[in-house]
Amino acid sequence: AALYRIDGWGAPYFCVNSAGDIAVRPHGAATLPHQEIDLMKVVKKASDPKTSGGLGLRLPLLVRFPDVLKDRLESLNAAFDFAIQSNGYGSHYQGVYPVKCNQDRYLVEDVVEFGARFRFGLEAGSKAELLLAMSCLTRGSPDAFLICNGYKDDEFIALALIARSMDFNTVVVLEQEEELDTVVETSRRLGIRPVIGLRAKLRTKHSGHFGSTSGEKGKFGLTTMEILSVAQKLQRLDMLDCLQLLHFHIGSQIPSTSLLADGVSEAAQIYCELARLGAGMRVIDIGGGLGIDYDGSHSGGSDMSVGYTLDEYANAVVQSVMFACDRKHVRHPIICSESGRALVSHHSVLIFEAISSSAAKPEPLPSNLAYFLDELADDVRSDYNNLMAAAFRGEYEACALYADQLKRRCIEQFKDGLLGLEHLAAVDGLCDLVAKELGVSDPVKTYHVNLSLFTSMPDFWAIGQLFPIVPIHRLDQRPGVKGVLSDLTCDSDGKVDRFIGGQSTLPLHELAGGGSSSGGYYLGMFLGGAYQEALGGLHNLFGGPSVVRVAQSDGPHCFAVTLAVPGQSCADVLRAMQHEPEFMYATLKHRALECASASAAEEGDAAFCAALAQAFHSMPYLFCAAAAGESSE
Ligand code: PLP
Repeated sequence: AALYRIDGWGAPYFCVNSAGDIAVRPHGAATLPHQEIDLMKVVKKASDPKTSGGLGLRLPLLVRFPDVLKDRLESLNAAFDFAIQSNGYGSHYQGVYPVKCNQDRYLVEDVVEFGARFRFGLEAGSKAELLLAMSCLTRGSPDAFLICNGYKDDEFIALALIARSMDFNTVVVLEQEEELDTVVETSRRLGIRPVIGLRAKLRTKHSGHFGSTSGEKGKFGLTTMEILSVAQKLQRLDMLDCLQLLHFHIGSQIPSTSLLADGVSEAAQIYCELARLGAGMRVIDIGGGLGIDYDGSHSGGSDMSVGYTLDEYANAVVQSVMFACDRKHVRHPIICSESGRALVSHHSVLIFEAISSSAAKPEPLPSNLAYFLDELADDVRSDYNNLMAAAFRGEYEACALYADQLKRRCIEQFKDGLLGLEHLAAVDGLCDLVAKELGVSDPVKTYHVNLSLFTSMPDFWAIGQLFPIVPIHRLDQRPGVKGVLSDLTCDSDGKVDRFIGGQSTLPLHELAGGGSSSGGYYLGMFLGGAYQEALGGLHNLFGGPSVVRVAQSDGPHCFAVTLAVPGQSCADVLRAMQHEPEFMYATLKHRALECASASAAEEGDAAFCAALAQAFHSMPYLFCAAAAGESSE
């Protein structure tokens, strides 16, 4: 566990059990030992064929734990409740979940259900998100906020106002000054009085990757002049009471409470000023930014870690708002936050197999090396002789130098057509052997994994985000290999060679004859529950993974699979690119039958057509029923 810093980033949800497997603690710190869920058992249940009691799903597999989500939600609310009580704050906390983090239907439904007793609401940033938020919130608390952020057109604003008339507690947050005119006109046209918020562009800037949203040059929000102009306009229209919420967002992964307090204090001053100007202020919405400690260091020194706990975060917010309001004698507002990453990151684990591994193994030297040497040009042969002489004298530095020179010269001659493939292979083998003897050969192995980074870890590729990646079993054995991961896509970016803790390799176990019963080697990517699913693409037409929802249960296995959805099939991903799988199948089948009748190989017809149909139905990933094997490059 220490090798992978599991206690750092995983607590209180992930640990290693006595079988050496990753165990999930679904209720966080409150989990009892008999409630821990062995991830390998989940993989087995999901992937075993139906005939042996499994669900017959193929990997990669996304395992969702609604209990973990519930615990996160409760912990967030408990942290704010504690800060509010201990500071004697005069109002309450009422958060929203920004659905952009993960719009999965069941996840959003869970947030609404688990959050109902906290009046927890949703935030939408587009018309489609608003529709989903409205639909899910029909089962939520009537007080829950439905916050509408993002750029808006007439349709968006009309929908938000209609939602208000349907008794959703909708707030239209102005992202740009111009949106005010549309809100005023649409509300008059529909006869619905709006509740308006505005997003302030703060001067406080966070310096990490996600900080580009903040600061005076940030993309979003209203400047001080625009805020004032909105307030004056609303006053002229006798609608200043409609302005009730101040929103800001200084960026995701806020690294420290000092930066947070800075931003909240600045926003709280704006809030108080709007109250002084006569607006009907009730809510301060501090946006997202509550961070995740991806690398387990708790240092807050990079985008990968944050230097505070949930309690410290909530306390900094409450104290900053309270201090500003008390000084200006303004009533304490409801504190709303839009924490996405912190709410949903832990709730899912992506599991994938390593299908083979390869390392630069020295090629066996051809027995007729002497014959090849005869064919070499004089300069190459003298390199070879120098290399041998240096080896004989034990001069290792000279050996490395001559081997390098020999190889370079041979490659040049191969390019000029002067050397054959066999010569080049022999020289490669010789140089690998020398490197191995000198102890300078690259000990890093590449593990080929049944995954597309572009689909399942898009942030790793796009913004260098690191996620903890750990074998989910064999953790009672010391891993003997330094590995990097290479995915299935035909793309050189499709590899993971940076890991948490600044490591360029991951400690991994040997594949061949591995200790697991199925012979497979399974890795988990953790903390990827936010953003990755909606951002992932279809590069090489690898689609979404299979998904299971796993709830803690008191039965013999401690868990129950409450939903199982196979991953996208080849037909699904083709359809997403406007191909028509049914038509494609009919055309290809016709062609297969034509060719079969021409070749009189009629016996194969049915089998060919079945194979074609199966190809459309199966997932684009590799099917790894058999034990993982080891190959060498
Ligand atoms: N609110 C707004 C306006 C955002 O832009 C974002 C994301 O960047 C969030 C909330 C969620 O942020 P986080 O996931 O860091 O909590």
